[in-house]
Amino acid sequence: MQKCDVLIIGSGVAALQLAGQLSRNLNVIVLTKSHLKHGNSSIAQGGVAAALGAHDHPHIHYTDTLEAGRHINDPSAVKDLTEAAPSLISELLNNGCEFDVGKDGLPILGMEGSHQHHRIIHGGGDQTGKRIVEGLIKNVGSNVEIIENLFVYDLLLDGHLGQCYGAKGKDHNGSTHTLIADHVVLSTGGCGQVYEITSNASTVTGDGLALAYRAGAEMVDMEFVQFHPTLLYVNGEAKGLVSEAVRGEGAKLITPDGTRIMQGVHPLEDLAPRHIVSQTIYDYIQQGINVFLDISSIPNFHQRFPTITKLCEQNGVAISGGKIPVAPGCHFLMGGVKTDKIGRTNINSLYAIGEVACTGVHGANRLASNSLLEGLVYGKRLAQSINQAKQEKRPEKIFSNKRKSLPLLQLPDMDLIQASMMKHTGIVRTKEDLLQQKKMLESYNIKGLMEIDYDRLSIDQLTTIFMLTTSWMITSSALERTESRGGHFRSDIPFERDDWASSHITLKRQWEKGEVYELIKNAATT
Ligand SMILES: Cc1cc2nc3c(=O)[nH]c(=O)nc-3n(C[C@H](O)[C@H](O)[C@H](O)COP(=O)(O)OP(=O)(O)OC[C@H]3O[C@@H](n4cnc5c(N)ncnc54)[C@H](O)[C@@H]3O)c2cc1C
Repeated sequence: MQKCDVLIIGSGVAALQLAGQLSRNLNVIVLTKSHLKHGNSSIAQGGVAAALGAHDHPHIHYTDTLEAGRHINDPSAVKDLTEAAPSLISELLNNGCEFDVGKDGLPILGMEGSHQHHRIIHGGGDQTGKRIVEGLIKNVGSNVEIIENLFVYDLLLDGHLGQCYGAKGKDHNGSTHTLIADHVVLSTGGCGQVYEITSNASTVTGDGLALAYRAGAEMVDMEFVQFHPTLLYVNGEAKGLVSEAVRGEGAKLITPDGTRIMQGVHPLEDLAPRHIVSQTIYDYIQQGINVFLDISSIPNFHQRFPTITKLCEQNGVAISGGKIPVAPGCHFLMGGVKTDKIGRTNINSLYAIGEVACTGVHGANRLASNSLLEGLVYGKRLAQSINQAKQEKRPEKIFSNKRKSLPLLQLPDMDLIQASMMKHTGIVRTKEDLLQQKKMLESYNIKGLMEIDYDRLSIDQLTTIFMLTTSWMITSSALERTESRGGHFRSDIPFERDDWASSHITLKRQWEKGEVYELIKNAATT
């Protein structure tokens, strides 16, 4: 058993920002199920949004964020985020983060969809995530121990105090490790891998979401999944992301005969909100018409977008041809573990930051380049709060959560979950499809899976259970929301409904009561 003051589960931007900003006299562990730089943060391309332009202002960034989120965001969280952005960028630059700067020494500002101004700060052209992660690692002190290849599969809870005091992990040999901490932080990222077509890293399987739900955390807005319009699409498979910054630089979406598909669909055309562009491309592909990004107008494409150039070339797409084949795929989860402005959940001493959290900043659809920003802002804010907190007393004895030794039912293959989620809970949803998906997921006894003892399961079995649980949360919430809004599109109800305009779906499991599932719908009458 290992003890520390702060246990940070995950090693993306949110985790590393927190670790670097925590007081040097705190004992900190950062742990990851893979290696330190593996995750969505390191592959982020486009950049970080901040209102730094001469004619820009945080208030315009604020209104753009609300508009993209279809006004279901928490306005005060959005205000704080957008106001914090400019100084955060200066701080990163001062700490040695290598962003692309112009001759004047100021960051070069890129453009992305639904932003009214150029405000995307980037590094290495399209290697922003890698640059930020490397910058943050430099800032981590010797008080931080990094543990790689440890898969967290359970949160330790004291039911009497309603408190989280640690986690259990498994290494690749199947040995169990127990970690005890005053503060336990989930920064495990999103869940892109529950979908067949995704831009996300292979490790992004919704683990933290399922862990939190099992522990009794409130989960909110799980129906809001962002499908990125342009994944490189070769031989029916997604091969990686083609950043929105490419359209920001002037690329247009076209059919094989050169027809521009976004003209007449939205006033912002190719830079319309992501859900609108994704749904339009999806409709064409459903009709058997391939869609391409026409990049012929972008000079020096390979210099501005070295990662995308390499990705295309590795997959047999020549940049010199001027056209990149694309399809939409799962990219980002707007919902997640419900937190306050510091990252606190409803369980004492359990926090969530980064993509696993739902702070209310993204609403029904995330504005491009706001998620690295969110991880950085909340990582810093949580550090300030923990630094000031009186150190909690750890429980004297370790409570072990009551788990049943029930037999494990046959689990599905992961690719069955991914394919069925894409088909039934994907870009375009209907009541029938969602009901069918929910039934399929529940046939694996989701309730029972919450109760069993995970100690004896393999990492593959645990990952499958986490994917099933997360898929179930997304599908159940999507079924409940009887309207279309942002990333959640129902072709059977293809419009926003006023009575849903300020309503959120919250899922919470009453783990103390064992069997009880509670669906709190702070919601419209349906
Ligand atoms: C291709 C791509 C491009 C993107 N481009 C941009 C962009 O330009 N701008 C922007 O703002 N956003 C972008 N995003 C989104 C952004 O990258 C993510 O939202 C953000 O990086 C998430 O950071 P995080 O710290 O929350 O999690 P991640 O970076 O995903 O890290 C999660 C960590 O948790 C660990 N973990 C997970 N489960 C477990 C477990 N069970 N046990 C132990 N460890 C675990 C993982 O190993 C990893 O270390 C992009 C995303 C993708 C996929």
